[in-house]
Amino acid sequence: MLGQMQSQPLLISMLIDFAERHHGDGEIVSRRVEGDMHRYTYADLARRAKRLANALQAAGTGPGDRVASIAWNGYRHMELYFGVAGSGRVMHTLNPRLHPTQLVWIINHAEDKVVCFDATFLPLVQAVHAKCPTVKHWVLLCEADKLPADSGIAGLLSYEAWIAGASDQYDWPQFDENTAAGLCYTSGTTGDPKGALYSHRSTVLHAYGGSLPDAMNLSARDSMMPVVPMFHVNAWGLPYSAALTGCKVVFPGPAMDGKSIYELMESEQVSFAAGVPTIWQMLLSHLAANGLKFTSLRRTVIGGSACPPAMIDTFRDQYGVDVLHAWGMTETSPLGTVCTLKNKQLKLPPEEQLRIRTKQGRAIFGVDMKIVGDDGQDQPWDGQTYGDLLVRGPWVMASYFKGASDPLVYDEAGHGWFPTGDVATIDADGFMQITDRSKDVIKSGGEWISSIDIENIAMAHPGVAMAACVGMAHPKWDERPIIAVVKKPDAQVTRDELLQFYEGKMAKWQIPDDVVFVESIPLGATGKMQKSKLREQLKDYQLPGL
Ligand code: ADP
Repeated sequence: MLGQMQSQPLLISMLIDFAERHHGDGEIVSRRVEGDMHRYTYADLARRAKRLANALQAAGTGPGDRVASIAWNGYRHMELYFGVAGSGRVMHTLNPRLHPTQLVWIINHAEDKVVCFDATFLPLVQAVHAKCPTVKHWVLLCEADKLPADSGIAGLLSYEAWIAGASDQYDWPQFDENTAAGLCYTSGTTGDPKGALYSHRSTVLHAYGGSLPDAMNLSARDSMMPVVPMFHVNAWGLPYSAALTGCKVVFPGPAMDGKSIYELMESEQVSFAAGVPTIWQMLLSHLAANGLKFTSLRRTVIGGSACPPAMIDTFRDQYGVDVLHAWGMTETSPLGTVCTLKNKQLKLPPEEQLRIRTKQGRAIFGVDMKIVGDDGQDQPWDGQTYGDLLVRGPWVMASYFKGASDPLVYDEAGHGWFPTGDVATIDADGFMQITDRSKDVIKSGGEWISSIDIENIAMAHPGVAMAACVGMAHPKWDERPIIAVVKKPDAQVTRDELLQFYEGKMAKWQIPDDVVFVESIPLGATGKMQKSKLREQLKDYQLPGL
């Protein structure tokens, strides 16, 4: 027997319709590429997204066509999110930090029809446009009078002139909720980049799940700043969760340094912000160097790579800001787990609480997870036993865009699980902790050593700015860990001092064999440490005593 409730497809247009109707005067504030500040409302956003939908129609694009962006976090980018997907086209966010040859590869693979880009990226587009035959329209996100006459890009359009010529009367179309809505490629540190193709249903459900109190706890009372870029897994779905909750949105634009972010947080009274650890490191350094405090920031979601416990501690103890450590990936939309404590854990002593907060957290409703051993068998949830982390759920990817093979692993009941490539433990309360990417795991004398544990301890040393742990081949133990360290400016820390710092913090055999001081640690296009590059840099390195 079927239920007798209305069956309305979950579409991205529902989100913008809702925001327009119920939070029409809700503010969206952006620092623009032009350098000035821009303010408008959800009602303005909705009207302009409709103009864009009409302009896309007039430009000859249809349902399913890919429309790409190369842009910072800002209001025009948010209009693209809703106008492109809401009208049945596919919003494809391109990461400008990728190498131009990779961008060309991705644009051609996606067969993008339109590419909209910020003025910052004009030189990049000038370098790649001739190699992208599928793109019919290049659109510069600017006013008509800012369009360069001699760009060398035939038919280059000004976004403002383009949408001004279209009507703001538009009825969002209704279609199957499983229709493709967004496309995002993983950075492809190994092999070619791979595309995750989100649907309307997965995006709306993810926005619901991400807004829950034990996830990001977003509401109409928040002033929210997504520092995580909109070209990286849809800024963790925040533009969608914003429309769903009606929170104020504050976009940092291209100014990602500590000073600019701090000043914008203060002037717009930001209560909630989201970003990767490397950005927050810059923000905290700025605060410390200038003796500043936050007057409005209450909580911040940190994820994308492991958040060092020292950072969680500093935010909480010195600035009264709760860090929510989160885990996810492009293939999981991205939110999988967020670390919020359970009631019983609030009674634990602060050190115990910090130990839990360091974990990547509990699954959000909608995401199921498990860890399995080499034989594919489930591992116990005891907080000790490691296993490969597998996930499934309505916003977890089933297959890659144009992918030939099936990436899922099937259980006895026939359910498909996505293998994350992460190695993790899960404790009896369901808190998951990542110990490594499977390719970065260090195996010493048959035992696994967590490189993240080793990095976290180094990061707690006051003289260390950044630390990356890698395994080095060893004739007796297979591999031994070493730690590459970037010192803070003017710090005096020595190798022996740092090795001593590990004593009592981990088992003796897990302590790294050596410290290598480096100028910098290679970072990838999404700000993560690239250990494969680091290993290449250290190829002539010799472990001490060998
Ligand atoms: P890419 O795969 O292109 O690097 P993703 O954003 O999809 O980009 O990366 C997902 C991976 O990032 C995860 O599989 C995991 O290894 C890592 N990651 C994400 N969040 C965390 C976290 N909180 N702690 C540790 N690792 C994390």
